[in-house]
Amino acid sequence: MAKTVSPGVQALRDVVEKVYRELREAKEAGEPVGWSSSKFPCELAESFGLHVGYPENQAAGIAANRDGEVMCQAAEDIGYDNDICGYARISLAYAAGYRGANKMDKDGNYIINPNSGKQMKDANGKKVFDENGKPVIDPKTRKPYATTDNIYEIAALPDGEEKTRRQNALHKYRQMTMPMPDFVLCCNNICNCMTKWYEDIARRHNIPLIMIDVPYNEFDHVNEANVKYIRSQLDTAIRQMEEISGRKFDEDKFEQCCQNANRTAKAWLKVCDYLQYKPSPFNGFDLFNHMADVVTARGRVEAAEAFELLASELEQHVKDGTTTAPFKEQYRIMFEGIPCWPKLPNLFKPLKANGLNITGVVYAPAFGFVYNNLDELVKAYCKAPNSVSIEQGVAWREGLIRDNKVDGVLVHYNRSCKPWSGYMPEMQRRFTKDMGIPTAGFDGDQADPRNFNAAQYETRVQGLVEAMEANAAKKGN
Ligand code: SF4
Repeated sequence: MAKTVSPGVQALRDVVEKVYRELREAKEAGEPVGWSSSKFPCELAESFGLHVGYPENQAAGIAANRDGEVMCQAAEDIGYDNDICGYARISLAYAAGYRGANKMDKDGNYIINPNSGKQMKDANGKKVFDENGKPVIDPKTRKPYATTDNIYEIAALPDGEEKTRRQNALHKYRQMTMPMPDFVLCCNNICNCMTKWYEDIARRHNIPLIMIDVPYNEFDHVNEANVKYIRSQLDTAIRQMEEISGRKFDEDKFEQCCQNANRTAKAWLKVCDYLQYKPSPFNGFDLFNHMADVVTARGRVEAAEAFELLASELEQHVKDGTTTAPFKEQYRIMFEGIPCWPKLPNLFKPLKANGLNITGVVYAPAFGFVYNNLDELVKAYCKAPNSVSIEQGVAWREGLIRDNKVDGVLVHYNRSCKPWSGYMPEMQRRFTKDMGIPTAGFDGDQADPRNFNAAQYETRVQGLVEAMEANAAKKGN
């Protein structure tokens, strides 16, 4: 039975569902639809009424639905290097027509064990798909009972049994049915992998690429030359969107979209700030799930309303002295980096067992773009985690550690995200030196489960717990 969720959480789920549904409907109606990097100013496309999907969010969803490994492998099989970010590999495989699919034999009745090639019948009691239709992991091979197929190959087949069988075997969840793009929107404030990834999609589909180049910023402020440079690119982007949409830029609509985005950002930051209460009124792990909501729908007024509703629910928890965390908070930790989406249960279990609540999520407030005018919009979009200096990064995090009363830091050395993971050893050193708290790191990946080892993770969490205990004893707590 599906878990009951609060009205605020349900409202967020509904708005994301709506965004995906409208994207599919727009494509079916023949309107141009786009793919956008998560920190491209969404206000622009929104003001033109252009529907866009978000490949990073899509890849996270595909990974959480346990198709990350087969999609990464599909990308590698067509020549993309294993060292490329897992989100990019999943998206590039998707753009090339690959989709997660059930493994079946030629009659379409059985599922094939990917390792032995033997048939496995559901009727024999083998549980190969769970109640939500997600492939479970084969306990022997540790590989999912899933494969990929290619929609272009299927489309080229003559009508008949094989074509129908292969079409039916494709996974149908919303991230796996996102329509192909007619244009792409890329902003490299996230990382430069993004630039090559979107160029590749634009070339493969022969579609326009709208690019906003954000220079790396080594200062604690954004200088005027950069603001001017980025604003001129916004002007070009507006002209390109006029061509794509066939509509003129409407300043009033743009203003309205900016107001919606600001309202969402403020409500989102308010939700994040409830983690400052001790004990926290919610399980910080839940913020990971809401990342999809803020990425996909932050320009929508419904998203602003849903986050405001969620904030009011948290306010009530604070008043009542209750929490949504399913365990008693013993220690408060900051989680550094993007979670391993295919391994969320493995991440959560040892935290719950040791009473560790995540009350600091570096990744989350990075989507709180608040501004009052166009120059401030530009400056807000310059402040993504990977586009600022280490000094700025340390200052943000140490503010979070202080305000959210963090006892220790758990660092995800994410094989996909080299720009983020590269400076973490120095950050760990600084957190302990400046804030007097222990840290521990573990190896993983946000999308490719082959790079995560549950035993190593559990050991590192245990080490962090012991270090926090020793720290608390030293302070006499
Ligand atoms: S920021 Fe990291 S995770 Fe995101 S696209 Fe770039 S490399 Fe991948």
